[in-house]
Amino acid sequence: MSIKTRFAPSPTGMMHIGNARTALITWLFARANNGHFLLRIDDTDQERSKVEYENAIEESLKWLGLDWDSKFNQKDRMDIYTAKIDALKASGDLYPCYETSDELALKRKSQLARGKPPIYDRAALNLTSDEISKYEAEGRSPHWRFKMRHQPIIWQDLIRGEVSFKGEDMSDPVVIREDGSPLYHLCSIIDDIDSGVTHTIRGEDHVANTACHIQMFEALGATPPTFAHLPLISATDGSKLSKRFGSLSIFDVRDEDGLEPMAVTSLLARLGTSDPIEAFSDIKPLVESFDFNKFSRSTPKFDNDELLRLNSKILHETSFADIKGRLSDIGLSDADEGFWLTVRPNLTRLKDAAEWWRVANGPVEPVIEDPEFIEQALALLPAQPWDQSTWKSWVNNVKDKTGRKGKQLFMPLRLALTGMQHGPELDTLLLLIGPERTVNRLSTKKAA
Ligand code: GLU
Repeated sequence: MSIKTRFAPSPTGMMHIGNARTALITWLFARANNGHFLLRIDDTDQERSKVEYENAIEESLKWLGLDWDSKFNQKDRMDIYTAKIDALKASGDLYPCYETSDELALKRKSQLARGKPPIYDRAALNLTSDEISKYEAEGRSPHWRFKMRHQPIIWQDLIRGEVSFKGEDMSDPVVIREDGSPLYHLCSIIDDIDSGVTHTIRGEDHVANTACHIQMFEALGATPPTFAHLPLISATDGSKLSKRFGSLSIFDVRDEDGLEPMAVTSLLARLGTSDPIEAFSDIKPLVESFDFNKFSRSTPKFDNDELLRLNSKILHETSFADIKGRLSDIGLSDADEGFWLTVRPNLTRLKDAAEWWRVANGPVEPVIEDPEFIEQALALLPAQPWDQSTWKSWVNNVKDKTGRKGKQLFMPLRLALTGMQHGPELDTLLLLIGPERTVNRLSTKKAA
């Protein structure tokens, strides 16, 4: 069987970590099985859907390295939905209801007060034609519900194992609004059937929807696809995904946090699986190791520090050729390979490179606590040209002449040269600073 998956975002906001994970897992499954990855834009809600969001979703997917084999928008298929919906009305699978939302809220309240589950009571099925005419005369238009069959609904979920619901425990879902516009449910099922989707992968917030959807597939004469429901991510303390991270869009992750896409995919691909979370610079090994059997049902914890750790690791292994263009993007077009290799081990985020560029090229406020020592060190600076061994021979000389060693020897030199207590290895950093700036920074009589 050839596999077809779909990622079906609603373009009503930016893409966040949660839906990026659904997209990634769906994509990995498709690619691991030589399958088809369809991007479907669920824009039936024409008021809330915006082209800017659709574009942002596409750009976010591309940034994450996820491509799609085909794409369509639900708004272009309204006529198809109408035809299928008319057939479901004719077969009695859909029925009209006239309650207002206030009336429905009151019903629910009274059911709960009587200790009953708030399941819609199907009062609309018993309306007489007089009552219906009265509602219509009042100007009420019906919304439509899908009539659930009162029978067991069972499926084998790729993550949750066997899942079962009873049709009679479910409220008949509203599938068409009062204004006649179809809600997501039926359109999604019609599309899944027409596109030949074999696997529906989505968050576990859709589990109850799936119970209804399975009956909709059947009402439309189709076999439901295989389902996989991903547990939703929580923060490290077990609470819902932290406000900061939960509300962070992929654009924020890219622009504000300045993270590498592969750090995000390395974490999201393995979160909640039995595979170790490792830093990958290429998505291929994530495709090769993908398997739903490795997914756990428990809630995975999203750890921001882990994301930063992966980000650093990926940067530390990135070659100059691969990063050159992006260094230019952050204003470092003069950076060369020597600079990159020197500062790379000290980066958590790429944008930190700008700070090391400043340290190398100035301005730097030297910190000199013992001017006498620094003057001695200045006098011992090796002759030019400088090379990789200059730092070593210089400090050895300073050590011999002053008797200092260890931290007492290195820290004052680092502070005078960089104004900071830590930073890249000085044997190469010294070469980036160069003789002229070195002399300036070590000269206690004038500013660097
Ligand atoms: N548009 C729906 C959502 O974003 C799609 C859910 C699904 O995958 O069926 O929640």
